[in-house]
Amino acid sequence: QARHYSVTREENKVAKFPGTKGSDGKYTVSLIEGDGIGPEISQSVKDIFHAANAPVKWEPIDVSPVFIDGKQSIPPDAIDSITRNFVALKGPLATPVGKGHVSLNLTLRRTFNLFANVRPCKSIQGYKTPYDNVDTVLIRENTEGEYSGIEHVVVDGVVQSIKLITRDACERVLRFAFQYAQDVGKPKVRAVHKATIMKMSDGLFLRIAQEIAKEYPNVEFDSELLDNACLRVVSDPTPYNDKVLVMPNLYGDILSDMCAGLIGGLGLTPSGNIGDKCSIFEAVHGSAPDIAGKGLANPTALLLSSIMMLQHMGLYEHAEKIQSAIFKTLADGTTITGDLGGKAKTHEYADAVIKNL
Ligand code: NAD
Repeated sequence: QARHYSVTREENKVAKFPGTKGSDGKYTVSLIEGDGIGPEISQSVKDIFHAANAPVKWEPIDVSPVFIDGKQSIPPDAIDSITRNFVALKGPLATPVGKGHVSLNLTLRRTFNLFANVRPCKSIQGYKTPYDNVDTVLIRENTEGEYSGIEHVVVDGVVQSIKLITRDACERVLRFAFQYAQDVGKPKVRAVHKATIMKMSDGLFLRIAQEIAKEYPNVEFDSELLDNACLRVVSDPTPYNDKVLVMPNLYGDILSDMCAGLIGGLGLTPSGNIGDKCSIFEAVHGSAPDIAGKGLANPTALLLSSIMMLQHMGLYEHAEKIQSAIFKTLADGTTITGDLGGKAKTHEYADAVIKNL
């Protein structure tokens, strides 16, 4: 009884499957607390879910890499847990720079084929930013492109990184984007690309976007060059509010952080990594080693990710209840964390959210 994000031509619909429900009526969700501030912000989510009576039972898992036949992998227990539960919430995982093991985030995406990274970028009610009406969604191809991990030294002083674009990966993320737009009521999908320069790779992405658009006659489709999109979205994000933006991996990574800046920064931005069998929800920010263990972290991004997760599971009432309490706390402004200009510790902010439930 898997929850499938159908991405085949035959079944163009997003089935609703809430995860694994136990006899106690609770859904088990795998929890990767993560590194740095991860355990602190995960604790806030657990406390708030408990206080909100959300029907979720957390199954903590350890994703410290193991090496099987010399290849880095996720521990088998963790793979079993996510496969069984279909849904996971993940704190940030630190990635060593340069040599060493592959990014665990990448390994997770590859292991579970999490092909679409969904990043809603929506102004937070009551939290003042230069624009107070941002409401767009970015969908990033999550498995290949510039992040295919194929790099080598050609000769001393010359390295080559391969940007890999395949029809299969383009089709599934583009079909997902159109389906998502239809499901959430956005009338338009826009592909963001650099096919003027990357004629073959982005050219293929764009061509497939035009093909998939024909399957969705009720969703308008157009495209825009990445540089143009960057300039226009920071000049005035309003024209993007009726759109889902879909793009290859690297562009999505960068443009979505830029959009995060429009709504108040990384401490407030959630995301979902969607696969055809399971999905992992996580904050956009990293492990924030500079503030780890000090009780200063803002748990909002992970909380909003957990709300995306509840919506994905069809638990809309609980999602709404927790989200309203978060917005109320942020709008009130007396108990917010340092990154938002307040003085509250992580647990004080979580307590304020609980009072507003
Ligand atoms: P970062 O997002 O951890 O931190 C950037 C800045 O934002 C820091 O000043 C930090 O204190 C602040 N910040 C981030 N989240 C915050 C929060 N919730 N509340 C308050 N302040 C917050 O980025 P970084 O320092 O470049 O990366 C640190 C580590 O995290 C690296 O190892 C990186 O690879 C990893 N990382 C992981 C993920 C992930 O797991 N998805 C994403 C990005 C970075």
